[in-house]
Amino acid sequence: MSPVYPIDIHTHRLPVYPGTAIVSLSPLGFHPLSGHWYSVGLHPWDTLHPDSAAEELALIPALLSHPQLLAVGEVGYDTLRGGELSLQQSCFEQQAAWAEEFRKPVVIHAVKAAELLWSSYRRLSPQMPWIIHGFRGKPQAAEQYCRHGLYLSYGHRFNPLAVRSTPLDRLLLESDESEEDIHTLYAEVARLKGETVESLHRIIGENVQKLFFPA
Ligand SMILES: [Zn+2]
Repeated sequence: MSPVYPIDIHTHRLPVYPGTAIVSLSPLGFHPLSGHWYSVGLHPWDTLHPDSAAEELALIPALLSHPQLLAVGEVGYDTLRGGELSLQQSCFEQQAAWAEEFRKPVVIHAVKAAELLWSSYRRLSPQMPWIIHGFRGKPQAAEQYCRHGLYLSYGHRFNPLAVRSTPLDRLLLESDESEEDIHTLYAEVARLKGETVESLHRIIGENVQKLFFPA
């Protein structure tokens, strides 16, 4: 039986139909159920206590070769919440380095942190794809990320002009914390991009396959 590919690349809820979403978990919370896909990472909000952050971080390498684990994340920077930025930086860069080692894409949480993220990007020059999840920025920021080869994942709140200016081959969709149906989001984004819902599913399906299921 061929695998079910996720249409929702980032959520914190177990989907009704196994395999249709990538469920994001903390290292301690990773207890995979059959048929589901996962990402694992130490969230920037979980860097408040350096000792427990270090303990959780240390669990990650042992998890990264699990066959249901498709990505590292969510990881990144949040200048409004979480621990000291120097600790956020070391945790993020360590996890991004593991993503290179284990050849996994990175699902990134970046809140008011574009400069920090770009400085990590320059330091690491990653070969594995970086995906900004829940992107709510302006079209200029979207264009800058895409020009450098990053991917943008949009959830239920976004800047429509940014969606318009995101090339189709850089575009992903997610439900994150939302209870709204992911299909509503597909319909909304299809309309903005001048695509049918079917063609948008096909295009995002190709992006998902290339990113998370490379041959
Ligand atoms: Zn999330």
